[in-house]
Amino acid sequence: ATPMAVMVGTGLGATHGILFKNASALEQATKLNVIVFDKTGTLTMGQPKVIDVVPAAGISKDHLLALAAAVEENSDHPIALAIRERAEGLVWPDLRRFHYMDGRGASAQVENATVLIGNRRLMDENAVEMGDLFARVEALMGEGRTVTYVARAGRLDGLITVADAPRPTSAATIARLHEHGVRIAMLTGDNEGTAKRIAGMLGIDIILADVLPGQKAEKIRQLQEQGLMVGMVGDGVNDAPALTQADVGFAIGAGTDVAIESADVVLMKSDPYDVVGAMILSKATLRKMH
Ligand code: ADP
Ligand code: MG
Repeated sequence: ATPMAVMVGTGLGATHGILFKNASALEQATKLNVIVFDKTGTLTMGQPKVIDVVPAAGISKDHLLALAAAVEENSDHPIALAIRERAEGLVWPDLRRFHYMDGRGASAQVENATVLIGNRRLMDENAVEMGDLFARVEALMGEGRTVTYVARAGRLDGLITVADAPRPTSAATIARLHEHGVRIAMLTGDNEGTAKRIAGMLGIDIILADVLPGQKAEKIRQLQEQGLMVGMVGDGVNDAPALTQADVGFAIGAGTDVAIESADVVLMKSDPYDVVGAMILSKATLRKMH
């Protein structure tokens, strides 16, 4: 593009809260074949709320919640915040030896037992006995809820589900990008069942679920190896390497500093719909160049 067209394009973007950090991002945005969206905090609000509290036989809901909140006491994961909020006013047990495991959950010691809270992967890795409750998991995931398992001494004490509302413009963003011929992927550490339900609601083409934080960039690289130009939209610390790897990285403005630093474009209004605006600007800028 001519320097003038790029200047006009970047300036116009800025007035609409779309911050292009470099000229090449403005030039490349319209060439993207696939745009990968992070789920939590990007397509969704990132502020999940507790929906179901399902204790195992002989355990009360309050006991399950208090135990879960105690293990999550020092975590800033959105699921941890949701559980602590719901457990407010309850008396939490005293725990020791906290451990937080990226992409899995957390653990701590109570008296002589280890308490684990997190996803299916964490339970499987610790050979947790699932029991009768497991029969309910499928239905809960089908509702688009993220199921969190709470286990003590190797046995399931209960399930806590959270749901995170999609951002109001997510579905429209995807519909408009489809009109531009772009395929849409959703990348998440959440499980496949929950991801499928949300993807269905939003019209997502490709689901990349159960992805560990360290594997997100690799997923982008695999798409690029198929000869695709890949955009990535994210907000979290664990999205940063994927934002760097992508041909154009877009950060949600309300996201983490590392995500913003790793991106080529910052969406100041934290509205995924501005990805559409970025593409239109990019197209107009390139048209002026020829
Ligand atoms: P995302 O890509 O959705 O931001 P993360 O990599 O942060 O996901 O987490 C992936 C999954 O690991 C979550 O969906 C959740 O099931 C589990 N998890 C991670 N941290 C915690 C935690 N502190 N408490 C409960 N579950 C957790
Ligand atoms: Mg996120």
